[in-house]
Amino acid sequence: MSATVLDGKNADAVAQAARVIAEGSALVAIPTETVYGLAANALDEVAVARIFAAKGRPADNPLIVHVPTWQRALPLWAHDDARALGRARLLADACWPGPLTIVCWRSVAVPDLVCAGLPKVAVRAPRHPVLDALFALLDLPIAAPSANASGRPSPTCADDVLASLGDGVALVLDGGPCAHGIESSVVDVTGEHPVLLRPGAIGVAELRALVPDLVVRAPGRAAHGDEASPGLRHRHYAPALARVRRADLAGLRAAWPGTATLLVRAGTAGALRQALGARAAPTHLLDDDPAGFARGLFAALYRIERAQPAELVIEEPPDDERWLAVRDRLLRATS
Ligand code: AMP
Ligand code: MG
Repeated sequence: MSATVLDGKNADAVAQAARVIAEGSALVAIPTETVYGLAANALDEVAVARIFAAKGRPADNPLIVHVPTWQRALPLWAHDDARALGRARLLADACWPGPLTIVCWRSVAVPDLVCAGLPKVAVRAPRHPVLDALFALLDLPIAAPSANASGRPSPTCADDVLASLGDGVALVLDGGPCAHGIESSVVDVTGEHPVLLRPGAIGVAELRALVPDLVVRAPGRAAHGDEASPGLRHRHYAPALARVRRADLAGLRAAWPGTATLLVRAGTAGALRQALGARAAPTHLLDDDPAGFARGLFAALYRIERAQPAELVIEEPPDDERWLAVRDRLLRATS
């Protein structure tokens, strides 16, 4: 049985998705402003188990729970740590609805499986008109990791959900391409200082303006953070290609033009073409700025995957905090 794709702008389609989620009979892929999510009722342990099975997700990698408002997040969190909850409130007031996930102590309402047995739960309020319509019909928190098979790039359009999950999903609500195209930033508010567990769609500078003592680790240097954010332990974001590597400008020059397909910033491609001549290398372009690069990255990986080049070389972006989220994804896509 193959997945049904329905237009998320259609009220009947949203009603059907709400019914499937409420019944817990199957999984629904939903659009968000970050990436597509694979959704189930977060309070239904059987439905949540289906998410892990469909993705082949390790049971030690907890899920993000989606709610429409701060009020609807409150029952999911324990209320005895006033400092933690106060920080959560401050961040949510500034960033919700939006691409910030807040990790705080969990309440007894949240099933163990959602949190991978951890004492905390990750919650966010997404910003998307299709989800506004869905939540208007559904008085439930929605557990939704990215709608890809575990280890693969996150899908940012309905076609890429199908490419990654195939029959693992019953229904896809098509909300068009995702505005950010990269996952939410994840901040744990329970410790002495708030900790950025995963860099994402909200930049570090923006988060520091809200919580100046935010602890930020270099990508791939999350030895301690591995315990705090189990998801970072696993290989992730990798396209199904024989060979994928990152390269700086010298590496790109060596690969241009050649047998490899290149994924580079538009400005870099222009400079390479000028320096090395007009002979075409198979090249896919991304925007020059971090937000634009992030928006196009996962879609480009799925597009390139369909052509199955022998090798993909991806431009290494600048070692600059504004590129932290992109560098994190590339590091893990190519390791
Ligand atoms: P994904 O749903 O695939 O985008 O990944 C969710 C991310 O949120 C992973 O990196 C998890 O490690 C992180 N996360 C989710 N729940 C928790 C939690 N309870 N504690 C710490 N990190 C979490
Ligand atoms: Mg994911």
